[in-house]
Amino acid sequence: MRRVPFSFELHPARSPQIARQLPDRIARLVAAGPEFVSVTYGAGGSSQDASLDVLKHVIEHHPQVRTMAHLTCVGSTVQAAHDTVRTFMDAGVHSFLAVRGDLPAGSPPDAFPGDIRSAAELVQLIHAVQSERRPWREVAIPGTPGIMLDRDGRERIAIAVAAFPNGHPSSRSWQQDIDTLLAKQAAGANLGISQMIFHADDYFRMVDAARAAGVEFPILPAITPVTTPAGLARNLELSGERAPEAFAAALAAEQNEARRREIGVDFAADLTRRLLDGGAPGIHLYTRNMHEVPLAVLARVGLIDEARFAQLIAPDFTGATPVEEPA
Ligand code: FAD
Repeated sequence: MRRVPFSFELHPARSPQIARQLPDRIARLVAAGPEFVSVTYGAGGSSQDASLDVLKHVIEHHPQVRTMAHLTCVGSTVQAAHDTVRTFMDAGVHSFLAVRGDLPAGSPPDAFPGDIRSAAELVQLIHAVQSERRPWREVAIPGTPGIMLDRDGRERIAIAVAAFPNGHPSSRSWQQDIDTLLAKQAAGANLGISQMIFHADDYFRMVDAARAAGVEFPILPAITPVTTPAGLARNLELSGERAPEAFAAALAAEQNEARRREIGVDFAADLTRRLLDGGAPGIHLYTRNMHEVPLAVLARVGLIDEARFAQLIAPDFTGATPVEEPA
C-alpha cells in the first residue's frame, strides 16, 4: 500500500440534519488516518463559533489527529484577530490556514475593510500570538509536509496559506501570485494548500514557478471529488478553474447515479495518482462533509486498503480501530 500523507477539509454543518450526522462522518474520515483535518471559517468571522465547535469535537473525540483551523482576516481589527487566534489556541488548535477571505459582495476591490489587508499579515499575527505564548526554534521533519518540531520535540504550529494554480481572480498577473506566495513565506508560512485542482499540469506549473522564485514550503494539491454535473458546475464557479471537458461530458452523459459516482471517483483518483506520481508531497481532499466518496478515492489510489475502506463505510461502523492480523 502506498504511504502518502493525505488530509481532509471539513466545514461547519449548514443544516441541523448534517450537524447530527457530522460526528459519525468525522469518525469514519479520521479512522482512515489523515495527516490532519482542516475546518473552514466564514469570511468576517461569520462561522467562528461553529468552526470552533467542529474543531473542539475533533480534539475531544479524536485526539490522535491534528487539527488545522482556517482563519480569515477580512474586516477584522488587529485586536479581534489576536483574540480569535488565542481562543483557537486555548481550545488546543496548533495549526492554522491563514487566508484573507473574500471581500463582501459588491465591494470595490480597493476598499479593503479591516486592519489586516492580506493573508501574509495574518500569518505574521499568528506567529506573534504564538511567540507571546512560548518561543520556538524550528526543526523540519523530513517527509512530513508542514510540521515542525522545536528542539525539545514539541510540535510547532504549522501555518498554511492558500496557493492558486491558475492565479487568484483579483491578481493582475501570474507574477503577482508568485510574489504573494513569497510574501507569505517571508511572513512565516510553512505549508501551502492549493485551490481545488481539476488539471494536474496546472499544479505542477505553479509549483515550478514558485520554486524558481524561491518558495520552499511544500504545497499540497487539493481535490474536490465531484459526482454530479451540478456539483462540478458549482465547484468550477466557486473556484474559477477551467472545466475538465471530457470528465464534464462523461458525467453529463450518465443518468445512473451509481455509475456517475464511479465516474467521479475514477476522475479524482486518476488526478490524485498523477499528482503523486509527479512529486506532490501529499493530497488534500475537500470532503464537503461527506465521507464515502473521499474514502473511495483514497481506496482507488491505494492509500487505504479495500478491506479497511469496506469497514469505514459499513453501516455498523463503530469508530474502533480493527485488530491487526499478526504479520
Ligand atoms: P491573499 O494572499 O492575501 O491575497 C489574494 C490576492 O490578492 C493575491 O493573490 C494577490 O493577487 C492580491 N494581493 C495580496 N496582497 C497583495 C498586496 N500586498 N498587493 C497587491 N496585491 C495583493 N475563504 C474563507 O472565507 N474561508 C475559508 O475557510 C477559506 N479557505 C480556503 C482554503 C484554501 C485552500 C483556498 C485556496 C482558499 C480558501 N478561502 C477561504 C478563499 C480565500 O479567502 C479567497 O480566495 C480570498 O479571496 C484570497 O485569500 P488569500 O489568502 O489567497 O489572500
